[in-house]
Amino acid sequence: MDDFTKIIVSENDIGRKLDQLSAAIREDYKGKDLLLVGVLKGAVMVMADLARRMPPTVQMDWMAISSYGSGTKSSGVVRILKDLDADLTGKHVLIVEDIIDSGLTLSWLLGNLRSRGAESVEIAALLRKPDAVQVDVPIKYLGFDIPNEFVVGYGLDYAEKYRTLPFVAILNPAVYGG
Ligand code: 5GP
Ligand code: MG
Ligand code: MG
Repeated sequence: MDDFTKIIVSENDIGRKLDQLSAAIREDYKGKDLLLVGVLKGAVMVMADLARRMPPTVQMDWMAISSYGSGTKSSGVVRILKDLDADLTGKHVLIVEDIIDSGLTLSWLLGNLRSRGAESVEIAALLRKPDAVQVDVPIKYLGFDIPNEFVVGYGLDYAEKYRTLPFVAILNPAVYGG
């Protein structure tokens, strides 16, 4: 049995897209102090590869949050497990996300960070699923729109596995007994 039915975003696709997005981000934040905020653990890979395309003065910080939901769907009710170390007052913040599905988690995060006195808060996301259009979350820097399938790789897990893959693939439903 193959663990994946299809690779939907290849390692090369990701690299080329991050080249484009990082060029736009560098231009937009020229002369400004930029703080990248990643959500553990899914955003680790995209954060690492994006941050390496930034000037060396860029800062990184991390949050861990848990979303109360029924199994695979998030509810938008979020609890902070690990908060940022950084004080956001006066800072330009760019949230770096792996994937936006319902958009509920991100919508909550955006409101939370905006309430902390940041100069600006924007979003960069590598992947977006179709349902995300239902929630009005403005994504300034987007990698790829993908189909409504459960994907793994490049930070994204199934039962904590497959995060280390260099590409994004559709998980074979047989892996989770489907
Ligand atoms: P949202 O609140 O946008 O529905 O939830 C987004 C979070 O759900 C992502 O950060 C990720 O942790 C998880 N998620 C959504 N879709 C997928 C998927 O296809 N694969 C994996 N591995 N995680 C997903
Ligand atoms: Mg995430
Ligand atoms: Mg997960």
